[in-house]
Amino acid sequence: MKLFELTRADDPAQAIAAGAKATTAQQGADIRFIAGGTNLVDFMKLNVETPGKLVDINHLPFDKIESLPDGGLKIGAVVRNTDLAQHAVVRKNYAVLSQALLSGASVQLRNMATTAGNLLQRTRCMYFRDTAMACNKREPGSGCAAITGVNRGLAILGTSEHCIATNPSDMNVALAALEAVIHIRGPKGERSVPIDDFHLLPGNTPQRETILEPGDLITHVTLPPPSPGARSLYLKLRDRASFEFALASAAVVITAEGGTITRARVALGGVGAKPWRSREAEVELTWQPANQSVFQKAADSALREAKPQSQNGFKVELAKRCLVHALKLVTQTA
Ligand SMILES: Cc1cc2nc3c(=O)[nH]c(=O)nc-3n(C[C@H](O)[C@H](O)[C@H](O)COP(=O)(O)OP(=O)(O)OC[C@H]3O[C@@H](n4cnc5c(N)ncnc54)[C@H](O)[C@@H]3O)c2cc1C
Ligand code: SF4
Repeated sequence: MKLFELTRADDPAQAIAAGAKATTAQQGADIRFIAGGTNLVDFMKLNVETPGKLVDINHLPFDKIESLPDGGLKIGAVVRNTDLAQHAVVRKNYAVLSQALLSGASVQLRNMATTAGNLLQRTRCMYFRDTAMACNKREPGSGCAAITGVNRGLAILGTSEHCIATNPSDMNVALAALEAVIHIRGPKGERSVPIDDFHLLPGNTPQRETILEPGDLITHVTLPPPSPGARSLYLKLRDRASFEFALASAAVVITAEGGTITRARVALGGVGAKPWRSREAEVELTWQPANQSVFQKAADSALREAKPQSQNGFKVELAKRCLVHALKLVTQTA
């Protein structure tokens, strides 16, 4: 393992200037921000990430959760996952986010993990974590060992012939259904990006996972005001009940009036190369009665483009059942 230098940034400008010195985008770059460290340090131990310098951003003033004048919520980049999940406004108005966070990792990890770190956590594909194996994401052009190897846990939506890795985050799935916006400060100024445009599909460049450029620092995430009368829910299916990533998950935000769904937001986890918002499912649900056959049609349309690999065909049915059940539960409580 390479020895690295650790610098503490107390001012966002300091962090950005340090990050901007990296010659490539942040993933794989020589200078990296470190927040909770629960993802980056893991990869450094495995020699998958070998930064020369870490910029510690834990002391930046991005540790608050604040209500916005329009009724939305502003979540600082270094807010810990535990604090976010337990926040009274999140539990009341954005239950899907609280549930998604609490379904992830362990208490100890959530106490360290941050909002921005979770957004940027990298895939759990076993070949990505093993430097002896071919992996286009880790080493562009080397091939993809997963396509002909162990791919049971990998993606069935949004994949390419170069990479079939899944985005592992639970939080990201909830943020997709809540239409979160990611706020970034970088060498060229500030910009805001809807979460749907933030993560990239693998295509020919699986090593590039987000739209971040060198020096870009995530400062906060905002959530729009909750839709009046909306109910939300996160359902996660996995091999064991805790400390395990999703095989399939569903985040749903539904408004129903007199048994008719008037607004639907749907995102899937465990199946997509990025947090998978399904507008197809949303169209099937909107202005329809909240019943089993409508839920099934929505699930069928969400998975219509699925491309299973040799070992993960079961995820098509699993994800459909997960979505149908999530919709049933959330509308039962409405
Ligand atoms: C055993 C285990 C089980 C887990 N189980 C789950 C699970 O079930 N579900 C789940 O969703 N997650 C799970 N996780 C992942 C966990 O949620 C992530 O490791 C965590 O969210 C990462 O946050 P962090 O602050 O520690 O990130 P770090 O490791 O500090 O950083 C991660 C990445 O984000 C970058 N970064 C951090 N902050 C910023 C910023 N402000 N601007 C720009 N770049 C930034 C870093 O440079 C790095 O590339 C698990 C992890 C472990 C180790
Ligand atoms: S699926 Fe992606 S991350 Fe996994 S081995 Fe293939 S290229 Fe690497």
